[in-house]
Amino acid sequence: MQTKAYATQSPTTPFAPHTIERRAPGPQDVAIEILFCGVCHSDLHTARGEWGGVQYPCVPGHEIIGKVTAVGSAVTRFKPGQTVGVGCMVDSCRTCAACEDGLEQYCDGPVGFTGTYNGPVGGGENTHGGYSAAITVDQRFVLSIGHAEKDLAAAAPLLCAGITTWSPLKHWGAGPGKKVGIVGIGGLGHMGIKLSHALGAHTVAFTTSAAKTADAKALGADAVVVSKNADEMASHAGSFDLIINTVAASHNLDAFTALLKRDGTMVLVGVPEHPHPSPGVFPLIFKRRAIAGSLIGGIPETQEMLDFCAKHGITSDIEMIKMQDIEAAYARMLKSDVKYRFVIDMESLKKG
Ligand code: NAP
Ligand code: ZN
Ligand code: ZN
Repeated sequence: MQTKAYATQSPTTPFAPHTIERRAPGPQDVAIEILFCGVCHSDLHTARGEWGGVQYPCVPGHEIIGKVTAVGSAVTRFKPGQTVGVGCMVDSCRTCAACEDGLEQYCDGPVGFTGTYNGPVGGGENTHGGYSAAITVDQRFVLSIGHAEKDLAAAAPLLCAGITTWSPLKHWGAGPGKKVGIVGIGGLGHMGIKLSHALGAHTVAFTTSAAKTADAKALGADAVVVSKNADEMASHAGSFDLIINTVAASHNLDAFTALLKRDGTMVLVGVPEHPHPSPGVFPLIFKRRAIAGSLIGGIPETQEMLDFCAKHGITSDIEMIKMQDIEAAYARMLKSDVKYRFVIDMESLKKG
């Protein structure tokens, strides 16, 4: 099926209209008309080749909300007309220990999981993401969306920004009695604040943008620290159980590890183009602190997060854009000027 999309042809080529081929649904497939797609900083890193290994033409987008248009003969969980979501993965080996544990993002199969765009991590046929009118996905990687119709655009960012912060919050036990820091108030960070707060943790936001202070409190932060201010940082020394660092640029990690209490962990989810300066070892050994990483989240925990958010009325704070405005959106994302996630209205794609 010929499908309208927006693609970039090289790291330096602006996005332009493009046509891709979507498969007709096989027995296990769900065909989806895309209504909304969030704009993740990973889309930008990938489209511009910052992480290497990109197959062009590149059609990013992995925060997809749409309506089912057709299902294959073996599909039991979805029917035409239903609202569904697709996140960062569209396939994995399904048989390794990680897949059996519902942690498909850590698939140990020969090529790892298959990203919604840019194909499997181990190489192979390219995949095209949500900057397009439609997508066909195996039912196993399709999520149910319980949000009201009016909230569907704002629910799209849950499919990456939501799950990428939810997964480490849950894994490292964020909840009542825990002090959690969220570094960087962008797409991921603002969801991290909302989810940490909703889970009952004492939540502190760290920002380089003093102008975001009031917003961070409205998002659910109990306190906000401007990370450039050394005195403000020092007042939180040795006090955090968990810090989730979403920053998309290389920076000094020691300023944050010093804020962890004994056995505290800072989880890196931001993936900058250039590595962070090597962290100091002394701040780690003296309080048995840890620096860890976390990648998106598995399909069962993504459904758990979506259901939690639908139940508690949690969505993303979004700015809706047209597909044609994607380059301007990327430019603003690079200036940390996103409040707090761009979402593309796919209706706009029909016009060009
Ligand atoms: P984003 O909306 O651009 O937000 C990043 C935030 O980081 C900015 O809003 C800004 O917050 C802060 N920041 C930016 N440049 C900075 C700098 N030079 N120094 C300090 N802080 C800076 O990006 P996003 O979509 O949330 O994604 C964040 C990162 O996570 C990206 O690298 C993305 O690729 C990665 N990611 C990882 C996963 C995963 O599975 N691990 C999943 C999705 C995305 P303030 O203005 O508050 O300082
Ligand atoms: Zn993403
Ligand atoms: Zn696997």
